[in-house]
Amino acid sequence: MTEPLGPGVADAPTGGWRTATVAGVRRPVARSVQLRLDVADRVAHLPGQHYVVRLTAPDGYTAQRSYSVASAPGDPLLELFVERLDDGEVSTHLADVVEPGDVLEVRGPIGGWFVWDTGSPALLVAGGSGVVPFVSMLRTARALGRTELLRTVVSVRTVDLLPYADELLAAGALVVTTREPRGIRPAGRLTAADLVPLWEPGQTVYVCGSASFAGAATRLLETLGIPAAGIRVEQFGPSG
Ligand SMILES: Cc1cc2nc3c(=O)[nH]c(=O)nc-3n(C[C@H](O)[C@H](O)[C@H](O)COP(=O)(O)OP(=O)(O)OC[C@H]3O[C@@H](n4cnc5c(N)ncnc54)[C@H](O)[C@@H]3O)c2cc1C
Repeated sequence: MTEPLGPGVADAPTGGWRTATVAGVRRPVARSVQLRLDVADRVAHLPGQHYVVRLTAPDGYTAQRSYSVASAPGDPLLELFVERLDDGEVSTHLADVVEPGDVLEVRGPIGGWFVWDTGSPALLVAGGSGVVPFVSMLRTARALGRTELLRTVVSVRTVDLLPYADELLAAGALVVTTREPRGIRPAGRLTAADLVPLWEPGQTVYVCGSASFAGAATRLLETLGIPAAGIRVEQFGPSG
């Protein structure tokens, strides 16, 4: 995750380690899994926050990774969406092995920077599974009747690989595809022409996705004159 460039939500909630019982496992998109977790003594999160999931092997070896929350704070279950990386230690276990009834160790909510305050206008810019925290923001906006505050653009290889595609399209998100044309838009990466109609003064811009997507999107936003102080970035993958 990049360094904070200014104040986030100073009093964002934080929770310690909890046990989470897996209540639901779905695979709506290839090579990914959506987990619905019943977390004991759950601390309500703010949209944009994440959790850490810790796995422990029989020999005591542990591995932990961060996952953004997809659910809205009012959802009785905590929803995570995990993209499976072929050589990934944790994502393969979550995608291939975890079943309803399993118990996981989780810690959260975490983070006060990449958080939507639920009252300010925001432009949400996602690459692939980077859309997960934005799903929480969009669901929260819908629950509050404040959908006009959020504008969303998602870049993905093909629509069938887009997590939450139906929900995002219903929310009016612009979906940009890099490997297939979409309507009259040819296949290709996010451009200034995609972003300009979505931008409004006063918006905070949230960028989420792989390190390469986050870097490219941030540079594009800066070429449009959007000050770095107004851009919040969360990177999912390695920075190297
Ligand atoms: C704040 C935060 C929120 C996150 N939220 C989500 C989320 O909602 N959904 C989700 O699927 N992931 C999310 N991630 C990424 C997640 O934490 C793991 O990095 C990812 O699941 C890979 O873990 P792994 O153990 O399977 O792979 P590892 O065993 O850690 O790595 C396997 C290989 O893949 C590379 N790699 C690691 N992560 C990525 C990546 N994201 N993209 C491409 N290559 C990678 C590694 O360098 C290595 O070569 C988030 C990360 C952060 C920091």
